[in-house]
Formats: sequence, structure tokens, C-alpha cells
Amino acid sequence: MADYFLGIDLGGTKILTAVADEEGNILAKIKLPTEEHKGKDKVIDNIIVSINKVLNKVNFNYEDIVRMGVGIPGPLNIEEGLVYQAPNLGWENVPISEILEEKTGIPVNLENDANAAALGEKWFGAGQGIDNLLYITISTGIGGGIIIDRKIYHGANDGAGEIGHMVIEPNGPLCGCGNYGCLEALASGTAISRMGKEAVEKHQNTIISELSNGNLDSIDGGIIAKAAKMGDEAAKEIWVKAGHYLGIGLANLLNIFNPEMIILGGGIMKAGDLIMEPMQKSLKKYSFENAFNSVQIRQAVLGDEVGVKGAIAVAIGRR
Ligand SMILES: [Zn+2]
Repeated sequence: MADYFLGIDLGGTKILTAVADEEGNILAKIKLPTEEHKGKDKVIDNIIVSINKVLNKVNFNYEDIVRMGVGIPGPLNIEEGLVYQAPNLGWENVPISEILEEKTGIPVNLENDANAAALGEKWFGAGQGIDNLLYITISTGIGGGIIIDRKIYHGANDGAGEIGHMVIEPNGPLCGCGNYGCLEALASGTAISRMGKEAVEKHQNTIISELSNGNLDSIDGGIIAKAAKMGDEAAKEIWVKAGHYLGIGLANLLNIFNPEMIILGGGIMKAGDLIMEPMQKSLKKYSFENAFNSVQIRQAVLGDEVGVKGAIAVAIGRR
């Protein structure tokens, strides 16, 4: 009989659980709400329910599963299976691997969600066959994973890969981490929304306000991309700025890691050329020619499944 694995992508709003074979082919999957507001025990119950439901779909029992991989947002201790802190879940010092193993008898491999996503793209997405790559996801925040010789680089205590908190402009805007001028504070979805609001508040000649029906809080990357595509100069300028900073961040990474590929994912990449063109320009300007010429820049291909496919890779032991 073949070996089967579970992948669990535990997010702040939803839990995606899938059962897969040893090649990573998904046999069944299910999506449940996380219900983090109901507390840790309820979230753990929901994980177990999602496991039971997905196994039911293929008539499997816990005994049929070799191992589960779990991707979780926040700093972890992978060795001990411990979540130090997951602000999206309201968790602190939760021994999640032990809890899930106790309830199911299935061994658990834990991984940070951005690293898991990097592994998903490496093994099952845009990075197949590539040994050295960087994966960067740009949505509300900016996260990433560093893959060297086909393995995640974890660092001294699983803290590596915080690409979003590379300082680009020490006098720049405040970042969620408490620092100033991090890449995340300059080029993330949150940063782009902030620049959109500022453009409206400064009474710049822009249609961003109109497109948001005057509701400043609804201004997001989608609205600003729409405005830019309609020829709005203030909106275009926002994408040029974000792309410029992203290019500087990527140039730093290129010069340090000399990767074969950089994979860009996350909702903000839907803006396409609006951000890619200025990014390419500053990437070329600030990186060494050798590193620039040898890197492929690719868009992520797995979409919403990236986390769960990565969790499957983690379960199989590809990490
Ligand atoms: Zn930061």
C-alpha cells in the first residue's frame, strides 16, 4: 500500500486540510472556518473535525496516515512542535504538535506558514526542479522563505526568512513590527492602502476617493490598481513607489543569495506590470549584473492551495 499524508494550512480565518499520496497528489481536501475568536480549544477541535472529514471522504482512518504537516503563522520551535506566538490565532506557547499527536496518534511536522508556502511552490509549483530559490508573498504583510540546496534555511532558532522586515528606509514609515522603513511598511498591501489614503487626504487630483465611494477604509490594492489602469497619475505613482522599494529589497536578496529563482506570490501581485515594471527597473539598478542575469523572476502558481500543498511537502519530509 502507498504512503499517505495530511497537510494542514492553519490560517487566522480558515483551516485548509488535505490528504495526499507520497507524490503530493491531493486525494481530498476540505476548508473550515478557524473560529479563532472562540479560543484555542475550539480551533484545535476544528482542526480535528477537518481531519476526520477529509479522511472520511476517502474512507481512511488515522492509522492510514504516515504523518501530518502543519503550517502555522508566527514564530515556532520546530524541533519541539511549539507555537511561541501566533497573533492571528491569539496563541502563546501552544505545544500544537503534542496536542494533535495525542488526539490522533499521527506524528506531526510543524512549519512556519511562509516557509511551508515556499516549499509548496518549490515541490509542486513554479519552482519544480530548482534547488536555490526565494519565495516572497506580498499581501497584507510581506513574508518569505529561503530555500538553499532544496531545504528551508531556518537559522539558529527558526527565525530566518523575515524578508518583510529588511530595513530599506530607516527614516521611512512605521512598520507593524515597531521598526521604521521595513520593506513591509513600504511595499505591502497595507503600505499601498496607506499611500492611497494619503493621496486622497492630501487632496491630490485622484479618482481613488471616487472608486472607494468616499470610504477611506475600503481603499486597497484592488482599487488603486483599478485607478492606475484608468490612467490615474496618483495611483500609478503609488505602484511605482511600491515596485521601486520591492526591487531594492529583491536586489539585496539577489546579491546575498544569488538564487536561481525568485517566486512572487500574494494578492498584491495581481497588479501585474503596475508593480513588476518599476520592480524590475530598480532590481536591475541595485543588484550585481552576475546575480541579476542568472535569476528567473516568476509569479507563484498555486494560488490559495500554496499553504496546504506546502504542508503536504512538510509532512512528506521535504523541507
Ligand atoms: Zn518590520
